[in-house]
Amino acid sequence: MRKVQLILIDGMRPDALTGCSSPDAAWLLAHTLHTLAGRTVVPPVTLPCHMSLFHSVDPARHGVTTNVYTPQVRPIDGLFECLGRKYHCGMYYNWEELRDVSRPGSLAEALCFSQYVHGFERSNAMVTEAAIRGMREHGMDMTFTYLGWANEAGHEHGWMSEPYLLAVRESLRCVRQLIAQAPPQCITIVLADHGGHDRTHGLDIPEDMTIPVMIHGMEEVGKMTKRVSIKDIAPTLAALMDCPVPKEWEGQNLISYLGRSDSDA
Ligand SMILES: [Zn+2]
Repeated sequence: MRKVQLILIDGMRPDALTGCSSPDAAWLLAHTLHTLAGRTVVPPVTLPCHMSLFHSVDPARHGVTTNVYTPQVRPIDGLFECLGRKYHCGMYYNWEELRDVSRPGSLAEALCFSQYVHGFERSNAMVTEAAIRGMREHGMDMTFTYLGWANEAGHEHGWMSEPYLLAVRESLRCVRQLIAQAPPQCITIVLADHGGHDRTHGLDIPEDMTIPVMIHGMEEVGKMTKRVSIKDIAPTLAALMDCPVPKEWEGQNLISYLGRSDSDA
């Protein structure tokens, strides 16, 4: 059975991906289907963007508009609720506020290595190691790996500053490890939740709203011509795992445009 992994680098702008002098960035762009012009949702803030990523609706619909979680008034099942009925899903993260992107009972494994205890730099590595173990040793069918360091460096030193670019470079090294250690046939989607400008993000401006999206493991590589929204990721992952999606989801399945990668699909 095909496995999939989702990897998110918090706050990674497309021009940071291309401009951070990372051999891993060059490798990813050469080996993925990708866009450097994906669009996130308003407000481009971490928790609202993650809720839209996993529930395929705008913040106005799921109701989370700040980094403080509030339960949905008209609840929609998210990706983990859909996949969790059939598969073992694992989540590995270093920003504890993400705990509510799935409802209790949806995940087979959830490991948080808090930045408050370990720092973002060290916990990025711990999250990566845990996600690799989850897929290789603990039987996870789908994993979500969240790497928070780049966003923290952006807030502290400024987006596109040298410390921020270093954090992006190191995060991309984690991504390369996660892809290298993934099982055969695994499809990996790598993206950001939002960008940033100066020392912040949250505005409806290109620097904050534009995100890279890369898909590794399909036959096709190169630039995606379709416009890609962060809301398209959950329907795409669900389709890759042959899982039906709720009627409320607004995003498009990207692979219906891309074609299937493997002959046994
Ligand atoms: Zn974020």
